[in-house]
Amino acid sequence: MKIYNRKFQSTSFLTLLGLRSLRQRYLVAMLVVSLLLCTFAYFAWQFVRTTNQAQLNQIQNRAEATDAIHDVSEQVHVIEVNLLRYVTTPSQQHEASIHRAYQLYDAAIAKLLANKWIKTDKSLQDLLMAMEADRRQLNSATDHLLAVRKDESKWFPAMRIMQGRMLEQNQQFTITVNFMINDVADELNDPVNRETYKLLIEIRHKWELLVSEFRLFVSNSFGIFSNDPKRDKQARRSNIDLYAKSLSRLLDQLEQTIRVGQPDRINKRSVAELRQRFSSWQVAYKKVLNAFTGDRWRNDLLILHNEVEPLLDRIQRRASSLELELGVASAKDITRVTSVAQGLSNSVVYITIGLSLIGFLGYFLFHRVILLPIATVTKALKSEVLTPHVEQHHLLQVSDAREIRDLSNAFFEMREQIRSRQAHLDHMAHHDSLTTLPNRILLRDRLSQAMARAKRDRKMVALMFLDLDRFKQINDSLGHDIGDRLLQLVASRLASCIRATDTVARLGGDEFGIVVENVGHADQIAILAGKILDSFSKSFQVDKHELHSSTSIGIALGPNDDNDVDSLIKDADIAMYHAKDQGRNNYKFYSAEMAAQVAHHMQLETQLRQAMDNNEFVLHYQPIVSLVTGQIISTEALLRWQHPARGLLPPQEFLPVLEDSGMMRPLTQWVLKQASLQYLRHNQAGFAQIRMAINLPGMMLHNDAILDLIISSIEETRIDPTGLLVEFTEDTLLESLMDSKKALISLRDMGVRIALDDFGTGQSSLSHLRQNPIDIVKIDRDFIHDIPTDKYDCELVDAIIAMAHKLHIKVVAEGVETREQVDFLRRHRCDAIQGYYFSSALDGDKVLDMIMQNQPMSLVSASQ
Ligand code: C2E
Ligand code: CA
Ligand code: CA
Repeated sequence: MKIYNRKFQSTSFLTLLGLRSLRQRYLVAMLVVSLLLCTFAYFAWQFVRTTNQAQLNQIQNRAEATDAIHDVSEQVHVIEVNLLRYVTTPSQQHEASIHRAYQLYDAAIAKLLANKWIKTDKSLQDLLMAMEADRRQLNSATDHLLAVRKDESKWFPAMRIMQGRMLEQNQQFTITVNFMINDVADELNDPVNRETYKLLIEIRHKWELLVSEFRLFVSNSFGIFSNDPKRDKQARRSNIDLYAKSLSRLLDQLEQTIRVGQPDRINKRSVAELRQRFSSWQVAYKKVLNAFTGDRWRNDLLILHNEVEPLLDRIQRRASSLELELGVASAKDITRVTSVAQGLSNSVVYITIGLSLIGFLGYFLFHRVILLPIATVTKALKSEVLTPHVEQHHLLQVSDAREIRDLSNAFFEMREQIRSRQAHLDHMAHHDSLTTLPNRILLRDRLSQAMARAKRDRKMVALMFLDLDRFKQINDSLGHDIGDRLLQLVASRLASCIRATDTVARLGGDEFGIVVENVGHADQIAILAGKILDSFSKSFQVDKHELHSSTSIGIALGPNDDNDVDSLIKDADIAMYHAKDQGRNNYKFYSAEMAAQVAHHMQLETQLRQAMDNNEFVLHYQPIVSLVTGQIISTEALLRWQHPARGLLPPQEFLPVLEDSGMMRPLTQWVLKQASLQYLRHNQAGFAQIRMAINLPGMMLHNDAILDLIISSIEETRIDPTGLLVEFTEDTLLESLMDSKKALISLRDMGVRIALDDFGTGQSSLSHLRQNPIDIVKIDRDFIHDIPTDKYDCELVDAIIAMAHKLHIKVVAEGVETREQVDFLRRHRCDAIQGYYFSSALDGDKVLDMIMQNQPMSLVSASQ
């Protein structure tokens, strides 16, 4: 792992800060960001809050100020209205109203002066001071006005003339004219008087018109009886002038009348007085007219217009400008509020942008620091799975984050573990654990590679299949440990026979395979096969055991025999079975006929199974005759197959196939029962002494299987065991050794006799005969066939008989066909014979017949 750690040694700023894990970095980053945001938010909140409060105060102040300003304006208005009212009709009530308005005005001004907003502004304060000064001036102006209005002579100067002069002239004129009318009225009979009377009436009427027109003129001046005083006054004036002219003419006429007619009732003085009163009135009228035409005809109005109103106007203007200031300030406030709002919305935008940036940055970091390394580790894992032998270092990002480093390290550690396990598994999968040789899988692999190369190089590949002969017996009798050790020794011996480029493999059990490359000619392989067989001639030393083993070798040549792996393996297998068939310890090259044989073998196997089901097997019985008495001493049960098409078949035709197919056990069971039943028939016929010989497959002797079969058969058929004779080939003894001895002893204890079949063909030695409980040896017919002509065979048979007798073992000669043979055997004290000379194997009925005839064999030679 140290190697990988080095890849992550690069230090970053974060590492220097001691933030080695993502969790720490994340927490610190969150803390910093939260702090920043909180600080920002706090200041924004504080800012808004104070601004808001200030704004509220300002609004309140200005609302108060606005109220006060309005009060001022209103009071100014009230003062103006009441002054006007007072000027028109002076009354206590109006005067009081004016004074109250002053008080309210003062209160409003005081309020304004106390206002916080105004206090902050010097110019506004100055304005208010000016308004206060205005108010003082206004006060004195008002006082002046009220004082003038109260004094009639002061506010209306024309009144003096009118009351002082015109009223008197008017009264006197009226009195005088009335006196004159009264005087004249008494003497109206006089035409002169009548004329004068009329004239006087006319004069009085005109005077009254004149005076009333003047009164109207004055009234009009005050706006009474007039909608348009100026025009009306002009009309009145011209009327007055008109009346004055006609009155003056009437007075001229009166004076004329007096001068001419001299009416006695009219006093000249009175006429003069009328003229004089009229003139004086006119003079006064001129003066009044003069007074009315100037500005000063009403002093109160003059004061009002000239003194009061400008002041009121000024105050109103100041109030207006104050209001204007207020408006400006409000506008400023709104601008400020707007800018605050703008600032706030900007903040929101900044915060949003900031958060988005943080989000993006967060994602970027998340992607870079977590997702990317995870993705790379995942990718590396994937690549590891797909291409396990390619180094994935380059795929892993350098990250100084502890978690990612741990992840990467875990990945490498895991990969190393997986690789070593994989390697181990690979080795296990491709090698045999016992011999450490390649196994079947690896052999296939090597074979396919070798075949590819062979095709390319136009050479051959040889596949050899080896099967140890009779390994099973060694394994079963000496134990698996010894068997395993033998296999190991065989493995190394095989390995020593081949070149390094070739492959020896253990295919399982006692089977081995060899792949030989670069084969130019089949002879090369024949030589190699011979070398291998030779190597087995030397015994194998396992512990204290000196084991002899041989092997059967099947050889297939690619691409001659076949050019695909599976077929070649099959071919070698077939060849190997043929080698075994041909008596073992040899090699066979594969040939097409072998395949045909195999096919035949398989066909036969299925037929045999059917035969078993269909009860097509039968037993024939061959008598064995004593050379001493000439009597039948036993019969040997021999298996036959009643083939539906091919007729009766001897065991050689099918027994090897039966052995291979695993049908031996049920068949043996069947043979045991059938033979026992036949024995019972002989027994019932009174021939209990004729034993029934049964051939047992040697392969079944090495365990208790055969013992169980025999016992159960005896129990089933209730046969006397002493009536049974079992035959084993001598190879059985060799192969089974200890186990077979135990089984044989058990059998013998039960009373069963034991015969060693085919004696002389195998490798059994004298010691085997001595060690095992054997009652009879049956000399193989090969040795009998050529006696007495073959000297060697004769000597051999003689030796066997002598040796057996020394061991108290009886001797039976097999395949005795001629009288000469019988003679020879009898001469050499052979105990019994079996052969066509006496009888071939017969079915149950016939053999029983033969027994019942019970004619002893002629023991005397024809020639003798
Ligand atoms: P085997 O035990 O040696 O049996 C004797 C064989 O020699 C028999 O052949 C028999 O027919 C034959 N024979 C007898 N007299 C003569 C003769 O004068 N000349 C010649 N040339 N042959 C003679 P068979 O019946 O074909 O049996 C062959 C072998 O099959 C037997 O040899 C035995 O090993 C085996 N076998 C037969 N029946 C059974 C059986 O039921 N079970 C087992 N396991 N093996 C059997
Ligand atoms: Ca036999
Ligand atoms: Ca035999």
